[in-house]
Amino acid sequence: MDIKNVTKEYSNGEITVVWQSAKCIHSGNCVRNLSSVFKPQNQPWIQMNNAGTDEIIEAVHKCPSGALSIK
Ligand code: SF4
Repeated sequence: MDIKNVTKEYSNGEITVVWQSAKCIHSGNCVRNLSSVFKPQNQPWIQMNNAGTDEIIEAVHKCPSGALSIK
């Protein structure tokens, strides 16, 4: 598997956030918008239990590249 092109999924039981590494332009918007959830230094880097579902959806929609989506 090419490490530069991975798709990862993170769920809180209500929604699943999908992150596609190939699309991520590392703008850091997600981290600035919701730093309790988006933690690039941590594993997993998206910590779904640290904010409400609404807040997470809002932050995902602000991702400029489409790397983040919800399913
Ligand atoms: S906002 Fe989107 S493009 Fe920017 S760092 Fe986060 S996931 Fe990557």
